[in-house]
Amino acid sequence: MIHDNRINRRLHKGISPQGEYVLYWMQGAQRITDNHALAYAIALANQLEVPLVVSFVVIPRFPGGNTRHYQFMLEGIKCLKPMLEQMGIGFSLKVGDPVKIISEMSEKAKAVVMDFAYGVFERELREALVQKLDCDTYEVETNVVVPVNVAYNREAYAAYAIRPSIMKQIHTYLTPVHHQPLEKSLGKISESIAFGSLPLDEIRAFLDDYCPDLERLPKSEVFIGGEQEAMRHLDVFLADGIYKYDQAQSDPAVSGTSRLSPYLHFGQLSPVTILNKLFNRGIKADAFVEQLVVRRELAFNYVYYAGERIKALKDFLPAWAYETLDHHRNDKRDFLYPLEVLEKGLTHDPYWNAAQMEMMKTGHMHNTMRMYWGKKVIEWSRTPEEAFERLCTLNDKYQLDGRDPNGYAGIAWCFGKHDRPWQERAIFGKIRYMNAAGLERKYDIKSYVSHVEALLREVT
Ligand SMILES: Cc1cc2nc3c(=O)[nH]c(=O)nc-3n(C[C@H](O)[C@H](O)[C@H](O)COP(=O)(O)OP(=O)(O)OC[C@H]3O[C@@H](n4cnc5c(N)ncnc54)[C@H](O)[C@@H]3O)c2cc1C
Repeated sequence: MIHDNRINRRLHKGISPQGEYVLYWMQGAQRITDNHALAYAIALANQLEVPLVVSFVVIPRFPGGNTRHYQFMLEGIKCLKPMLEQMGIGFSLKVGDPVKIISEMSEKAKAVVMDFAYGVFERELREALVQKLDCDTYEVETNVVVPVNVAYNREAYAAYAIRPSIMKQIHTYLTPVHHQPLEKSLGKISESIAFGSLPLDEIRAFLDDYCPDLERLPKSEVFIGGEQEAMRHLDVFLADGIYKYDQAQSDPAVSGTSRLSPYLHFGQLSPVTILNKLFNRGIKADAFVEQLVVRRELAFNYVYYAGERIKALKDFLPAWAYETLDHHRNDKRDFLYPLEVLEKGLTHDPYWNAAQMEMMKTGHMHNTMRMYWGKKVIEWSRTPEEAFERLCTLNDKYQLDGRDPNGYAGIAWCFGKHDRPWQERAIFGKIRYMNAAGLERKYDIKSYVSHVEALLREVT
């Protein structure tokens, strides 16, 4: 059963009588397990007695995307194709403008289903597509536990505002998705004949051929994309890490977090799957649920309701935070680093450099180090605006989970978003401050640096 609150009928034009299939445009939910949009599309296809076609459109230059991200994403798509075909579902992979491609494919569709999006760019794609469609169209929200509009009906000031509503409703939205068997299978019709689908045998060659303008970046040597890999990571974490999470999560010297964020970002894993596995094993993990559901869905709330405002400090910060940063904008900075120095991890600070190198090489960084990393860039940039831009650039470029609501909320947090005023000091004003002494006091931070150095030796 898919909760009605997940389903939004975007277009009520009726079922196209000449339609031959239901079309599901998969974009943000790149998985089969607990994909409510896929389940809805299968049910609709069965109800209309037609086959189902899933279409994935690779946008040749997705904003902020580079070959590291595309490699990870396509590793997932490559695994998805045979799994869908085994379910009798047609799969089409194309490169180009999804609005054009999906609207063309919809000419033979009885109805269209798409997954729900939060960011401005993705929402604009859906708006533009809906303008071009001529059949019933549904948008299904599947990448969060509690649908964003249900969790809170406006931008939340901080986690405390959204937590009670989310925690009260969490179990209502944890029903696992059982995909009905597809009654009208597409059979053995080759998707390349039927839909002009592109082959994806070798990902690098695919990117060279179809996405030549994409920025080139080495792939992560640590993370492999795809739903099966996501499940493997999850099972490893649930076998051991989850039991230590409460104590270990903040310590960068211990690998105490799940490292599931790249899989969540690409929708290769659903938070519903994670929570059900957790709860079915009777694991009580309040601290983990706080991060995975409350903090993550606070970030989705922020990006969804703030829209274009997430791009400028003045527009998204609470007044106290912007005023205090503005008041201190001319304070003397002891270190001012050019972006290239930051990017190469060549500052005077070994902890910061280690964090930067961890991100550059692996595509991931520990949460405590992300906080420290962000705070220091504020200290080492000429203005808060410059710091914000640099953080977005570096985060989106190197993190596999970059370009995500969590990334925009995490960076905004460094400037006071979703936080409270602290004791006033230079440069930061009343924004929370972090320093190396704090890392040294709380953690075996030198062992974090050694760990990163060892990692770098392994992957280079
Ligand atoms: C400056 C800065 C930049 C960040 N950039 C990103 C980003 O680009 N993408 C991204 O997914 N997260 C980002 N975060 C949030 C957080 O650091 C990561 O989600 C987390 O480190 C991912 O590692 P994990 O999967 O091992 O987390 P775990 O601790 O295992 O948590 C499980 C899941 O909960 C969610 N989560 C954990 N911590 C947070 C948090 N603080 N806020 C919101 N959700 C959270 C994530 O989805 C995560 O995968 C950023 C935080 C900061 C301070």
